[in-house]
Amino acid sequence: MELFKSHKNSDYTIIIGCGRLGTGLADSLSDSGGNVMVIDNDKDAFRKMSSSYGGLTLIGDATDIDILKEAQIENANAVVCVTNNDNTNIMVAQIAKELFKVKHVISRLYDPERECLYREFDIATICPAVLSANEISKLLGNAKKEDEVE
Ligand code: AMP
Repeated sequence: MELFKSHKNSDYTIIIGCGRLGTGLADSLSDSGGNVMVIDNDKDAFRKMSSSYGGLTLIGDATDIDILKEAQIENANAVVCVTNNDNTNIMVAQIAKELFKVKHVISRLYDPERECLYREFDIATICPAVLSANEISKLLGNAKKEDEVE
């Protein structure tokens, strides 16, 4: 696997979890010319990727440090944790930040109450429940305004 040498690459992103979110993200980053690696512990997960995906894939459990080393995490500029398990996302995000000093670490979090855990470690979070609630409130607000005009 030809990757990067000893210094951090400003355009190397590792995505943990090749599910519905990870796949789309990997495809989009790769399409815009980024260097991308996707890790998933289920080999069938990679079937969802587009045939034009130009990045790398690695089968393995991302909580295993040897797997992260195989992905050359020490050279990554960003790690995005989007498995379907908050505990896994928390653990991998902390390893990336603390052990491998990855500059940008972003993590999906299903449980909004866990967000404080991330704040302590300078890890950005995306919480679908919170984003969805905000968007639905916005749509309801717009619908109400339309009703008032009618
Ligand atoms: P989704 O729920 O569609 O966003 O998919 C989440 C993905 O995360 C699935 O493809 C899982 O196989 C993957 N996943 C879950 N746990 C791990 C793990 N420890 N290491 C790597 N991938 C994982």
